[in-house]
Amino acid sequence: MSGKLVNATEVLCRLLEQSKPTINGAALLGGEFGEGGHELVRERLLVLGPALSYLTCPDCGIEMARVVRFVGVDQVLLYCDECGEVDADRALLQTYTVSLSRFIDRMVSSLELTPSNRKAIDNDISWRLGVHEHKRGKAQTWYFARHLNDHTVARHLLDQIRSDNAAQSAKIITSTDVPLPDGSPLVGYDIKNLAAIARMSQNVFLFFDDRAEATVAQPEEEPAPVTSLRHVRHKGWAYVDGEKYELEGMQQKILLALMDAHAHRLEGKVIADRCGSDAFPFQPAKYFGRNNEVYKAFVRYVPGDKVYELIIHPEDADLF
Ligand SMILES: [Zn+2]
Repeated sequence: MSGKLVNATEVLCRLLEQSKPTINGAALLGGEFGEGGHELVRERLLVLGPALSYLTCPDCGIEMARVVRFVGVDQVLLYCDECGEVDADRALLQTYTVSLSRFIDRMVSSLELTPSNRKAIDNDISWRLGVHEHKRGKAQTWYFARHLNDHTVARHLLDQIRSDNAAQSAKIITSTDVPLPDGSPLVGYDIKNLAAIARMSQNVFLFFDDRAEATVAQPEEEPAPVTSLRHVRHKGWAYVDGEKYELEGMQQKILLALMDAHAHRLEGKVIADRCGSDAFPFQPAKYFGRNNEVYKAFVRYVPGDKVYELIIHPEDADLF
């Protein structure tokens, strides 16, 4: 167990990736979501849905337990065939749904965008949040989308970006995990996962690494790694000897392919496939013209087996 708690922004992203962003109280407020779930409720981005009349028994965790009666304002008496009468927190019976309109409002205000530029693209799925004019003249157009790994959603967003003439200035935030799957119409665009770039704090999202204008410093987090792949997946950074290297897209894909591979060894051709490249022969080192330090620190070629192998440094031992 890493003991890493899922924070509120991550919980929010996971809900937004469900086709209907609804969750019951037992799942939201217990288990790995616990802390983040409570924070999300406090942030009032969820609206209450109908209460359930039964739930998985909080005692045995197996049988369904039905509501016998409510006790006071916040307790409920349940009956489980296995455990008999069980007291539980009434909040566990509640269902919660993300308020998309409130969420988008908060994104717009947190990014300090003009609300008049806001527009729904695919209903309840993707939005143009607005335009941010920089003092030095360069405007950025911000978008948010759920389900961005669905190529149809990505295609509609791309169409909107093009009709906004924003191909050069589009900033896309998503609840979907990045990088997007191979073949996405949005390959090459600047796409960030919300949970990777922001956290929630009292009615606002604080963006910590994507906006120079954001007044917020890096929130208190664990110290920066020394030589590590820890932030490759979500932030696109590798660390070598305490130095941070911002990876190019292909560099990130190559490292992820090896990180996710069985035994962390792959033939060049397989890496090419997983990175969506048809270069042959595929030589990973070629893509590290910039950030060559990263390649040297984390990838080695094993001539006898004709495979590339990931070098795992001690501080990454818990990652794999
Ligand atoms: Zn039970």
